[in-house]
Amino acid sequence: MEILINFGYLIAAILFILGIKGMTTPKTAVRGNQMSAIGMLIAVVAALLDYNVVDYTWIIVGVLIGGILGAVLAKKIAMTDMPEMVAALNGVGGGASLLVAAANYLESQKLAEMGKFVPTYDWSIAVILSILIGAVTLTGSLIAVGKLKGKIGDAKKVGLFKAIVKLVLLTLVVGAGYFAYVDPLNSDILIAGMIVLCLVLGVCLVMPIGGADMPVVVSLLNSYSGLAGASAGFVLGNNGLIITGSLVGASGIILTSIMCKAMNRSLTNVLFGGSMAASAGVSKSENDAFYDGKVKYSSADEVAMLLDNAQKVVFVPGYGLAVAQAQHATRELANMLEARGVNVKYAIHPVAGRMPGHMNVLLAEAEVPYDQLVEMDTINPEFSQTDVSIVLGANDVVNPAAAKDPQSPIYGMPILNVHNSKTVVVVKRGLSPGFAGIPNELLIRDNSLMVAGDAKKVLQDMIGALKDL
Ligand code: NAP
Repeated sequence: MEILINFGYLIAAILFILGIKGMTTPKTAVRGNQMSAIGMLIAVVAALLDYNVVDYTWIIVGVLIGGILGAVLAKKIAMTDMPEMVAALNGVGGGASLLVAAANYLESQKLAEMGKFVPTYDWSIAVILSILIGAVTLTGSLIAVGKLKGKIGDAKKVGLFKAIVKLVLLTLVVGAGYFAYVDPLNSDILIAGMIVLCLVLGVCLVMPIGGADMPVVVSLLNSYSGLAGASAGFVLGNNGLIITGSLVGASGIILTSIMCKAMNRSLTNVLFGGSMAASAGVSKSENDAFYDGKVKYSSADEVAMLLDNAQKVVFVPGYGLAVAQAQHATRELANMLEARGVNVKYAIHPVAGRMPGHMNVLLAEAEVPYDQLVEMDTINPEFSQTDVSIVLGANDVVNPAAAKDPQSPIYGMPILNVHNSKTVVVVKRGLSPGFAGIPNELLIRDNSLMVAGDAKKVLQDMIGALKDL
């Protein structure tokens, strides 16, 4: 039986790895997701066999409550709220590891009384790590959800939070040392105290980070939830959990580093540098003065005429496209252009939107063909041969200031070079800045036209105008 169970874990791990690989391209992403789901099912069945469960009542109750809640939430959640959902799920994962470790600690006490358990250093360290990382992930993720939802503002007393973090960490080191090396089985109050301290630590670690940096924090917390799971795997001696947790931990940290690189920021800067938007943003009057009289406004009708004569058109989606839910309208316009023989592509910046892959998911929902989604490095040389680039609710990721203004907070961030196109049409509601809080130089370029309005409405107007031509 043991061989069969471990074989089950191995198959699950292989499916997880193939699943992650599948998720690296939009074409195979759905299959990758399905493979991972099957892997998880196998892992759960193997785990149930692993522990000789005699009474399934609570397990069935848990599966029903969790399954229904998860399915309803996943169905109902709006695409723009996806980062909150991911953050909440990370928190749940961390909380589960915390509970598993605490339950195992209590059970081990009983087994030790019966002479069936002798604590080892490995076990003690695994219990501490599960509790620490699990609790930090739980409360850190809850704060991240609050910040993403705009319910929790950016912290004013950043220094105070940092001081609490240092104090709590020091106390935890002493408490963990006592637990692991002095008295691991009679430490109820110590364990309870450490749990509370770790919950406080999660809050104090995330509170000083600017709300705008939450997507990076969520990705990091995702990695933490994996590490907490792996530690819980060591506590339980469960190979499946160790492998799965390690996979999540490693992929989360890789994603975090990709996001930081795409924003040209270091992780230290994100975690300890305060809010990018808050520290670098310009005032409304400065923003207005920057654009004063320099923006050339156009209309859906005029753009339709431009499109009528175009041979190559690139759509550039950004966060505003998600806000406007304009993905279907974008696809409809693209279809019309293709029917007229126009070469249509979509330019995807790695950090467009508010979470990695945001634009891919959004456009996949509208069934945009995968081969038309072109990544930044591939599409950038093509802009000079593009007749019209249509920027839909993107701002920072197309701001040429990133390439040439060393004073800009986004200086060094790689951008989509849409300004090299023959004509750039920027669709956004007004002249508000994007995530980084700075004006967009693209809007005052000679070859730029702005169509003011909600992206979906403007696209629908363009579709109507093109039909009339
Ligand atoms: P952005 O710079 O945040 O700009 C979005 C623009 O959308 C805004 O300027 C807004 O202007 C416009 N907008 C909002 N609602 C709209 C609507 N209904 N219709 C049309 N336009 C609308 O977006 P981005 O260019 O996608 O850049 C993403 C930013 O997020 C980058 O700075 C990136 O570093 C950051 N970030 C991304 C991630 C990630 O994983 N994707 C993670 C962390 C940070 P108006 O209000 O004037 O309409």
